[in-house]
Amino acid sequence: MPHKHAIALLILTVVAVTAGIIAGWYWGPAMESVAWLGALFLNALKMLIVPLILAAVISGIAALGDVRRLGRVGGATLAYYLCTTAIAVFIGLVMVNLIRPGDGLQIGGATVPEKILEKQDTGVSDILLSLISPNLIASAAEMQLLPLIVFGILFSAALTTLGARGARVIEFFDGVNEALMKLVTWLMYFAPLGIFGLIAARLGSAGGGDAVANEIAAVGWHVVTVLSGLAIHFAVLLAILFFVAGRGWGYLVNMLRALMTAFGTASSSATLPLTMECARENGVDERSVRFVLPLGSTVNMDGTALYEAAAVMFIAQAYGVDLGFGAQVVVFVTATLAAIGAAGIPEAGLVTMVIVLNAVGLPLEGIGLLLTVDWFLDRFRTSINVWGDAVGAAVIDRLLRRGSAAAGVD
Ligand code: ASP
Repeated sequence: MPHKHAIALLILTVVAVTAGIIAGWYWGPAMESVAWLGALFLNALKMLIVPLILAAVISGIAALGDVRRLGRVGGATLAYYLCTTAIAVFIGLVMVNLIRPGDGLQIGGATVPEKILEKQDTGVSDILLSLISPNLIASAAEMQLLPLIVFGILFSAALTTLGARGARVIEFFDGVNEALMKLVTWLMYFAPLGIFGLIAARLGSAGGGDAVANEIAAVGWHVVTVLSGLAIHFAVLLAILFFVAGRGWGYLVNMLRALMTAFGTASSSATLPLTMECARENGVDERSVRFVLPLGSTVNMDGTALYEAAAVMFIAQAYGVDLGFGAQVVVFVTATLAAIGAAGIPEAGLVTMVIVLNAVGLPLEGIGLLLTVDWFLDRFRTSINVWGDAVGAAVIDRLLRRGSAAAGVD
């Protein structure tokens, strides 16, 4: 995309987010009338995700070349995901211990929401089981992306062993990927309107500014804990971007449209097409764009991890349960796993929080305390999830370039 267009779109998107907040805040429920704009945008993004993920992963893995390289890049990617997720959980735990938002909170007759009740037996083994699907079509229909990615990786690895015939198939998926990315660049022109619709309508359906402010104020310290934790993690990722990936502020500026889309959609999966496009505009190596970002959008969720740890500790404090060091280590480990297991869809983190609550023996009703503000915090944590993926793509990009330089190939 020409540079001027990208800048114009960025400005339009900033205007859209601001206008969406102002309109939803002041006109409240009346703004539900623009919900269709948001739905149109979201549907278009979702339409692209399944074919894009498959084509991107298959062509991206194949472009890595031999299997040893896949091992090295894959290992580095997973190490990055795990380290940054662990840092996020740690920050969440530190903030919640410092601020202690749940102390002295009055717990009303909270109830467990239906979607949580259905998942109350979720355990760590479910995360492993979710890697492989017995029915890829059903997974695609339900937007369960992780099994599609696993299939894509295996399929592509197999293709690379087939010589010329495999190369033809890879070329096909390369073309599919290019065509889909072209659609993404077209969709970008509609993004500002879509984001405006999503934000204005969501604030509107929550009852407008005053109602939202009251909801936030009721668990104000919890909101402060999560938002300040996310802000710190944002800065940590920025430092990684500067010092590990060797990038500058321009990278962040180019990523802003993706981050604002994440804020608007509350879904890192739905944002993926834009994240990939922005990373491309940042000159990130295609192999990193096609592999690190799709995988990251479903398994690397720093914001969610931080949120889950902080929220569970908040619930413990509200119930007057003192979780000592040992229990907090359990929270640390399970929150990391729960974030990996969370899908990149709105409020998925709330559902996998069951794993963490069960692990430390807290009542599921505690989730009821968080419900009113979850949609709000979800948007911030989703933006951090996407930011974590974007920085990861830059880190792996550098690694790939170094590898290419060392091997004397481009
Ligand atoms: N909405 C988040 C995402 O899509 C997941 C969550 O924390 O609920 O990344």
